[in-house]
This record gives sequence, C-alpha cells and structure tokens, in this order.
Amino acid sequence: MKSWLPIPLDSDFSIYNFPFGVYQIDNQKPRLASILGEHVIDLAAMNALGFFNELGIAESVFENSFLNDFIALGKNTTNKVRAILIETFSTDNAALAVNEEHKKLILKNYQDVKMCMPVKVGNYTDFYSSIQHATNVGTMFRDPKNALLPNYKHIPIGYHGRASSITVSGTNFYRPKGQTKPADAELPVFGPTKQLDFELEMAFITGKSTQLGQSVSTAQAEDFIFGMVLFNDWSARDMQTWEYVPLGPFLAKNFCSTVSPWVVTLEALAQFRVAGEVQEPTVLPYLQYSGNKNIDINLSVSIATEKGIEQPISLSNYKYMYWNMNQQLAHHTVNGCNIEVGDMYASGTISGNDETAYGSMLELTWRGTKPIQMPDGTERKFINNYDTVIMKGYAAKGDIRVGFGEVRAKVLPSI
Ligand code: MN
Repeated sequence: MKSWLPIPLDSDFSIYNFPFGVYQIDNQKPRLASILGEHVIDLAAMNALGFFNELGIAESVFENSFLNDFIALGKNTTNKVRAILIETFSTDNAALAVNEEHKKLILKNYQDVKMCMPVKVGNYTDFYSSIQHATNVGTMFRDPKNALLPNYKHIPIGYHGRASSITVSGTNFYRPKGQTKPADAELPVFGPTKQLDFELEMAFITGKSTQLGQSVSTAQAEDFIFGMVLFNDWSARDMQTWEYVPLGPFLAKNFCSTVSPWVVTLEALAQFRVAGEVQEPTVLPYLQYSGNKNIDINLSVSIATEKGIEQPISLSNYKYMYWNMNQQLAHHTVNGCNIEVGDMYASGTISGNDETAYGSMLELTWRGTKPIQMPDGTERKFINNYDTVIMKGYAAKGDIRVGFGEVRAKVLPSI
C-alpha cells in the first residue's frame, strides 16, 4: 500500500498504521484525530465532510476531549473508520488529493498541534509480566538463587495503580517527596526521592465494558482490547523499598506515569505477532491460550540532559513478555472484576536478556553500582532534575512499519 501524501520512509505513522488520538490547535477545543506521516488528520472535519456518512457517527463523538466515546462504538465501527482512512489516503484514491479546500480542513502539520491525553482513564492496573525484570529485581533485593517468587510462573502478578496521575507525553512533573529509610539510619527521613527511575512499559486499553461477575477468556481478550500506547511508569526506588512491605507499591508509583498520545490499534499490530516463551510449568486452564499472542515491538530509551544532549541507554522489545495481554486480561477478570472502556493495563517493566535491554535505571546501573556515562562527562545512577526520558517503539517487517512515536517527560525539582 502507498499513499498520495508524502510520508518519510522511517515514519512510525505509515499507511498501515492510522492510530487514534486527540489533538488541539490554536487553543481550539480538542478533537479526535489520526496521523499519517507528518500530518495530523482531523476526524471531526472528515466526519463533517461526509467521509464517514455510512457509519452514522454523531458529531459529538469526534468533537471530544477523549477517545472513550469513539472506542465505545465498538470495533465493527472503529475498524471501518480505519479502513476508510486507508482507502481515502491510498494512491488508488485521488479524490481528496486533488481537493485543496478539503485537504486544508482535514490535514494539519504535526509540528503545529498539541497532543492531548488520548483517553479518560477510569482504572489503571500495572502488571509485572517481564520475567527478566522480575528475575533482576529478585536477584537484587532478595536471593540470586531464588530470584523468582514461587507464584511467578503461575499468576500474572499485578497491582491496582492510580488513574488520576497518568499524563500525556510532554507533560513535565515534579520530583516526588516522601519517606525513605537510608540503610544506615534507624528512623525514616522525609524529602525528595534520591532514586527517581523510569520503567519502560507498554499498556493496552480496553474498548468494551463487562458487568460484575463476568470474565473475559484468553480467546475473547482481543475483542475487548482496543489498542496500545507506550507507558513510562515513573518510580521512586528509595520510597518503594521502604513502603512496599507488605501490600506492594503505593506512593513510590502514583505521583506520575506518562503515556504516548497515539493509540495504535490491535488490528494495525496484528501482522507483527510472534510466539511467546513456552510456559513451563503448564498454567491453569483459564490462562491457557492458542496462537501467537506476543508482539514484536522494538523499544528504546534515552536520557536527554538539560542542555538537550541525548544518550541512548536501552534497547528492548515487547516480545519478551512472559505473560501476554490475553492472559493478563483473563486473569484480571477471572474473579468477576468488571472492566470499563478506557481502562489502562500496563505491562510491567520490559527487560530483555542482558544489560543492553534492561527497562529501568535500577537494572541498567544495577541499583546504582554501575553508573551510566553521559556524553557531557556526567554520570547517572538514577534520573536527575531537568533530565528528559524519551521512549520510542515501532514494529517493522520488510518495508512495513507501524510505530508509536514517542513518550517523553522532563523531571522538575520538587515543589
Ligand atoms: Mn511498573
């Protein structure tokens, strides 16, 4: 497939992608959008011009601050919108290409717009599904010989997080303050975290709700998952070490998470499916699945200093997940917990097999014992004030590329 609109060869937003997001231009009200190459596509304008007439979608769905109402239309409708986008922008169809007036209403330069939070997140869950990450953390904090806890290969471990502090890429945030207990101190102290970390994650967003008592099977999961974003689960390691016993993460995690603005649909990612690791011992029947449920998505992390000097620090891949999305959603709902449109489910830190592919500073610097050298001569054990952490992700096969763009956020001093 090719488009009549010029698209840079290495663009994440190829004609195979058409993700969905929410944008703003010139301080006007937010509107739903898609993106192709370097152009944002105003879906409200397309709807007003009749491109989606056959679907009978209300104006208010597109003139909206969030994707939730659009997603709630169901995959039958949203997949048709995506199909109309592919058709409208492909070389086989010149109607819009030669209509300057319509092009002006529909296409905006990406650099001129502001991207907004894509969904109103009702509920947020964070899993712990990368076995290498769990092994690294277990090795550092517990016992190298028994790094994985006995439940790890039987249960997709997770916890309920905080939805209110999930922000969109480009939103800077303040270094969290809290309680820590230095190793040599008898009593806890209060102050800004000294061990601010990122977690390289991806998250899926549910597109259909269930009722209390209802469960979603691994076979049904894809019908309930609308799409995915990049997810940075900011973490304060010193606060986490002190507070996490016995109930797990709390204030070390809920001060901020950052997501990428474009929701890439499961359908756009379908051709990048790969097999996951063989799960041994065999999991309980409700967690069993068939088919390729992992996805080959290249992930990268870099740190940019205050002066803008950028240092790549990790290359990982979403395919390393031990537990896949279908299993995560089946597990989440097996007890009858209901889900809602726009809920976000993060993967847990995605670490690959060696230190070039670890998904957090905790692992990359091995708890600060192996600092990362920066191009300006400074070093990092954790993340400094005014550092920007940038994560990118894309899937590729031959000439076909489907990506997420980036998620970035800068750390400001505590207030
Ligand atoms: Mn996490």
